[in-house]
Amino acid sequence: MPIDYDSMFSDALSSLRDEGRYRVFIDIERRKGNFPRAVHHRPDGEAQDIVVWCSNDYLGMGQHPAVLKSMDEALQRVGAGAGGTRNISGTNHYHVLLEEELADLHGKEAGLIFTSGYISNEATLSTLAKLLPGCVIFSDALNHASMIHGIIGSGAEKKIFRHNDVEHLEELLKATDPSRPKLIAFESVYSMDGDISPIAEICDLADKYNALTYLDEVHAVGMYGPRGGGVAEREGIMDRLTIIEGTLGKAFGVMGGYITASADIVDAVRSYAPGFIFTTSLSPVLAAGALASVRHLKNSDVERTGHQDRAATLKAKLKQANLPVMMSDSHIVPVLVGEPVICKQASDMLLDDYGIYVQPINFPTVPRGTERLRFSPSPLHTDAMINDLVKALSEVWRRLDVKESQAA
Ligand SMILES: *Cc1c(COP(=O)(O)O)cnc(C)c1O
Repeated sequence: MPIDYDSMFSDALSSLRDEGRYRVFIDIERRKGNFPRAVHHRPDGEAQDIVVWCSNDYLGMGQHPAVLKSMDEALQRVGAGAGGTRNISGTNHYHVLLEEELADLHGKEAGLIFTSGYISNEATLSTLAKLLPGCVIFSDALNHASMIHGIIGSGAEKKIFRHNDVEHLEELLKATDPSRPKLIAFESVYSMDGDISPIAEICDLADKYNALTYLDEVHAVGMYGPRGGGVAEREGIMDRLTIIEGTLGKAFGVMGGYITASADIVDAVRSYAPGFIFTTSLSPVLAAGALASVRHLKNSDVERTGHQDRAATLKAKLKQANLPVMMSDSHIVPVLVGEPVICKQASDMLLDDYGIYVQPINFPTVPRGTERLRFSPSPLHTDAMINDLVKALSEVWRRLDVKESQAA
């Protein structure tokens, strides 16, 4: 019997569909100056006006005039691509300026940019632990896939502590040979529940047990702290973290990822990480846009203030309407559905009947039984948009009997 490869792939896809977690990409066209409005290119060929409620362009910086101007100028000055890896003709002056700007943002000696936040986590974590023979990595149970893959790639022993549970972390640290190198990897804002980690307490444990710390501030950079340095900046403890990692693709509105740390750590990752070395560097146009965005948000608070106001308003109105909003400490606004097929149906209905776009969040991104719609309000979401959303959600909840399905 020949091997039936085709059925192996189609079976794999069928099982995703059966579980209601087959991913369908919504084809949208963002319109500069109109964010969060966009045009949805429907499968039937029709164009539909929609309001986007699930973008990670949290502050609308992807269309900010300062960012666009800087990218226009860079494009005209240096052209489209970087033209090489960082080592072989691909280090452009914009990269150097951006790395200096990011190091300054987090109060570190040096910065290093990658083609995405994913790669920055994967490349840094896998490389660091390899440079520390016998290293044990302590990883929060809800860490992002990019950190998990970096940790696995390092080949280091890993100990997973219960999410944000410092007592459990201490138990694991205590049980580890004091002579082995240790690294604690965690995030500040966890983007699915919107909760915030006890950074200072984790740093206390790192001091007590002589461990390095690695903090992913992807969902906080640009948005928290007086200069947009993240939650650690807000709490005045950036200097307590060994490595702070972030993205240029979310609140900064462009693309790319980075780490900041001591000059030696950054130099070691620069010199040893394949995911940094063997790839064409970020387009200088993107670096120029990110540079303008980081600089702008260092000096401007209106985006951050507006963002927090919109998130608080949306949470309050959802609660008033008795919708199961999961109260978070951050700008993330999850609404619990608790069942994957209904979660997808709710999302489809909101899009088709109300022009509201929010992607369903299902397993494995969140645990089974906690499937949800996750809203990300921006400073550009108006009161009218919020009211429309709450009204539409209430109707969809009635139409789909969501509460009963949760109880079942
Ligand atoms: C999105 C995300 C990343 C990856 O960042 P990209 O720039 O999108 O690759 C890393 N960590 C966390 C926690 C994220 O949510």
